[in-house]
Formats: sequence, C-alpha cells, structure tokens
Amino acid sequence: MSNQLNVPVPAYIKAIAPYVGGRPIAEVAREFGLDEAKIVKLASNENPLGFPASAERAMQKAVADLARYPDGNAHDLKAGLARRFGVPMDWITLGAGSNDILILAAHAFMQPGASAVYAKHSFVVYALATQETGGRAIVVPATADFGHDLPAMLAAIEADTRIVYLANPNNPTGTFLPPAEIDVFLAKVPSNVVVVLDEAYNEYLAPELRFDSTDWVRRFPNLIVSRTFSKAYGLAGLRVGYAIAQPEVTDLLNRIRQPFNVNTLAQAAALAVIDDADFLQRSYEVNRAGYGQLTAAFEKLGLRYVPSYGNFVLVKVGEDAGAGARVNLALLKRGIIVRPVGNYDLPEWLRVSIGLPEENAAFIAALEAVLEG
Ligand SMILES: *Cc1c(COP(=O)(O)O)cnc(C)c1O
Repeated sequence: MSNQLNVPVPAYIKAIAPYVGGRPIAEVAREFGLDEAKIVKLASNENPLGFPASAERAMQKAVADLARYPDGNAHDLKAGLARRFGVPMDWITLGAGSNDILILAAHAFMQPGASAVYAKHSFVVYALATQETGGRAIVVPATADFGHDLPAMLAAIEADTRIVYLANPNNPTGTFLPPAEIDVFLAKVPSNVVVVLDEAYNEYLAPELRFDSTDWVRRFPNLIVSRTFSKAYGLAGLRVGYAIAQPEVTDLLNRIRQPFNVNTLAQAAALAVIDDADFLQRSYEVNRAGYGQLTAAFEKLGLRYVPSYGNFVLVKVGEDAGAGARVNLALLKRGIIVRPVGNYDLPEWLRVSIGLPEENAAFIAALEAVLEG
C-alpha cells in the first residue's frame, strides 16, 4: 500500500489556487516580532467601528440556546429582511457570508461544460465558484478606468453560459455601475442566464446613488442580488449574508445549502442590526471621512488611485511589477497590514481598507516613510 492519496481528483479541482485573505494580526505580530496591539489592519474591508452593540446584546440572549441546533429556516431573520426590503420571505436565502451565496449560485446553475462570465479585476470568489463547479471562465477585460464593461460582458455571453457575476461596487477596484446601465444590461441578458449582482458594499453608497435592487428582482426571474452583514454592518466574523431572488431560484439555492449554514448567534446578531440605522449611518460617515483622508494623502504623494465607492481604495505604489509586493512587505515590517493585489493582475497596486482616522494616519505615515526610503 502506498501512503499517498490514490483517489482520482478532477483536474479542475487540482487547478484551484486557494483563496488568500488579509493576513491576521496575530500572524503578522509573530512573523515580524511586533506588538499585536500596535498593528493596524486595513486588509479585509472590515468595519473599523467594530462589532455593533445591538448585535452583542442580541447574541448574549441567544447564548442560552446554543446546545440546540439553529433554526434551519432562520424564520425571524428572514422575516426581518423581508420586512426591510418589502419582499416575501420566500425570496430570501441566507448564507454563511455572501461568499456562500456566490458559491451556492454556481452549484445550482453551473456544471462541467458550462461557462461563467465575469470582469477582469473583479472579486476572486467568482473565479473560485466557476472552477470548483468545473465550469469555464470567460473573463471580460475591464474598462480603462478599471470598471465592468457591460456591453462587452453582454457580448461575451455564449450558448453554454449559465452565470454572469457583477460586483457593484466592485472589489478590489471600488468601481461603480450606474443603475441605468445595469437596467439596460439586465433587460438584454438572455433569460436562460442567471445574473448574480453582488452588492457587498451597497450600504456605503452615497444616498443619491442608492437604488432599489429588489425592483429588478421583481422584473427579472433570472436575477440573484447578494448582500452581506460583513462590511457596513460590522459582522464579518459571524459569517452571514443573504440573497434576494424570486422563489424558483430561492428554492434551488435552498436545496443545496447546508441545513444549518447560518448559526444561532449569527442569526440573532444580524436580526438586531437590520434596524440599527445609527450604526449604519456612523459606518457610512466614518468611511466617507476616511476616504477623504486617504485620497488627500495619495494626491499629496502624487500616487494614482481608483475613485472608490466602497470602504477601501486601490492605490498604485510603483511602476514595476514588484512594487505592490515590495511596499506591502515594508509596510508589514512597520505593523501595517494592507492587501497586495497581484492575484488580481494588479501587481503595482495595493488595496487599502478605510479605517478610523488614527489608523489611516498610521498607514499614511508608514507609506510616506516607505516610499521615501
Ligand atoms: C467582502 C465581499 C463579499 C462577501 O463577504 P462575506 O463576508 O462572505 O459576506 C462578497 N463580495 C465582495 C465583492 C466582497 O468584497
């Protein structure tokens, strides 16, 4: 008997490069001999305000029930979301983060021999979802300003295409598609192709840019809108997100999700924050102020950045393909964690999450020192 794995593995599984997240604070502290308390992490688009107090209170109550399985149907949370969006409860699917939703969509509609369309420099999970279901990726070049090229994406749809992923705003570029353009796009996508509209950063949009995506869900039975509690709601560690789609789609996603994919504490916390308008407003304001702070510094340093509609900014830190990795390492040594984006084919750039004023200032000072040095 050999002591090596002898089970045939599909080539498309072997080809997957695992997801690489922002580096944890404890890991960076260990590796660079730094004090954890002094490390600034601006690498995963987390909410710098931390965990909302409303969620903490709800979780404390829910702790009493932890010996029992969660409500697999998550009745209360679905009812809360249905009320919030004015849709029936059976239009909602919950996920362990919206990541789960993106993957569920692929498992429901993709298969070997099918293709998925998404934009270059768009969220890496679309590639992973396509790969793990044996599908073929059709990656559409971005516009000159790093956005989704919707006419080109439409033209890229082939007979075997089953999913189109759109991120609005997109991560890691922060670009935004005006609703009027999405409207035209949705009306032209063939009805046998599912559109997954990933709105993880929707709550950071300025009021005048907001729009009602559920209106599209009413009009388009092939649309899945995906949202999350991880970003503006500050619950990234709990893993809870949701999809809004018509019931036929919801029913399919429900068949393949894990029965208890959103745990008891996550359900309780998410329900509590749906109505925490104050926390959401503060998240929005801190983000706007931080965006101004970071982009003013980039301008002063003569660094190019992509105007962002999310809670992060993509900034170009050099001209050569080693620049992103080099500046990232130098920042790590100074206790600043940001995100290199070479895996998005942006090796000269870094993605910086917007933090509290003092965190942004620490990053700016370190960046200045690194670029001078
Ligand atoms: C962060 C992010 C998500 C989802 O994160 P979850 O924590 O899994 O909800 C989805 N899409 C984009 C574009 C993101 O940046």
